Amino acid sequence: MFLARLIFALLFAAWTSAAMAQPAEPQLGPRAAPTTKIQVGSLPMMDTTPAFDEAAATNKYLARIGGAARARSDAYFEGGYWLQLLDLLYALGVAAALLWSGASVRIQDWAESKSHSRTAQVMLYVAAYVPITIAATFPLTLYEGFFREHAYGLSNQSFWQWLGDFGTQFALTFAAAVLLLPVLYHFIRRTGEMWWLWGAGLMIGFQILVIVIWPVFIAPLFNHYAPLPDSPLKTKILSLARANEIPVDNVFLVDASRQSNRVSANVSGFLGTARISLNDNLLKQGTPDEVLAVLGHEMGHYVMGHVMREILLEGLVILAGFAFLNWAFWFACEVFGGQWQVRKVVDIAGLPLLAASGAIFLFLATPLINSISRTTEYQADIFGLNAVRKPDAFATVMLKLSTYRKLEPGKWEEIVFYDHPSGRTRIAAAMRWKKEHIADSDIRDTAQQP
Ligand SMILES: [Zn+2]
Repeated sequence: MFLARLIFALLFAAWTSAAMAQPAEPQLGPRAAPTTKIQVGSLPMMDTTPAFDEAAATNKYLARIGGAARARSDAYFEGGYWLQLLDLLYALGVAAALLWSGASVRIQDWAESKSHSRTAQVMLYVAAYVPITIAATFPLTLYEGFFREHAYGLSNQSFWQWLGDFGTQFALTFAAAVLLLPVLYHFIRRTGEMWWLWGAGLMIGFQILVIVIWPVFIAPLFNHYAPLPDSPLKTKILSLARANEIPVDNVFLVDASRQSNRVSANVSGFLGTARISLNDNLLKQGTPDEVLAVLGHEMGHYVMGHVMREILLEGLVILAGFAFLNWAFWFACEVFGGQWQVRKVVDIAGLPLLAASGAIFLFLATPLINSISRTTEYQADIFGLNAVRKPDAFATVMLKLSTYRKLEPGKWEEIVFYDHPSGRTRIAAAMRWKKEHIADSDIRDTAQQP
């Protein structure tokens, strides 16, 4: 944009002087004056364009987080990589124990003795299976969700508050499993070898349902959502929303400080329940410009229809996942089915095997699932920079996210483990944006930052 204006100004000045400096004797005469004036008016524009080194600016911002703070967030995030592996091994261990001990078959026999209805049998099995597996994995859940979060200073919850949220999650998981798995086993009985296609369809439908009802029925079980308090900042936020055609009723403040001190915001809901939620930690810890920078990102998700993008792309992953489940179940039964007394996928006693296969698939698909999310997040970053035009506030708020996300990963580390771009990627994008806009009247005064 700036380059086009510069070329136009130079051409215009040249043409003007050529037209006016007749005859070509530049040094004298009254007509020389306007020529000089025009040149004086246009050339300083080139001279005063501030220099801006995007790489140096990126490094300066990154250098603000060093020493103990940097070491702590790196350790927290890198520890998460190993926890993903530990979670998988633990889940496989629980499934193996249920299958090899004969417990799974005994629960199946018990369910069959209680009812002749196949649907009721599945419900009874699941009603026993879910509490057993959640109890078996509880020590790991407690460590990861409570003790580890406190050790890194990220949690604001007492043990009893944490346990309350855990109980709510348990109740939701239990209800979803008891209602959904009988439908899955119904498809397995009725559709034979094609069960996995129906299973994938069921799971995609369920995911859409959860996304739609989440902001209205589920999120309020954990947090309080309220309208934004009146302030000059609110006026700016609502103006930004209107400018991007987002209904202003859809911007909320959530008391995320109930659980943690993490700075964040999100877009949730779909098909009429979509809303943007700004968390109170961001409002307390961020400057007004930082809040706007984050909300520009969230509005990007909203405007670009990212919920639909994720439903479609993750739907493909779910489809691949059910194809994997179908193959893995057959393969494992060929090898171990005799020991487990599980022969066919229709046997409800094989549910731990389906769950274990699902855990393996999700583990293997982690880089793909993260990349779907990370590329979507990057789009929202670019949208936010364009909409809000505060690259420095964007950079500093990214540093605030570094309490729980490693700032500078390796290239492959970012591809495999990051569901959002790393701090370095995001700050570099902001500084590149700034360099390309450095001559704009609202950006040029910030050329000395950071
Ligand atoms: Zn986002």
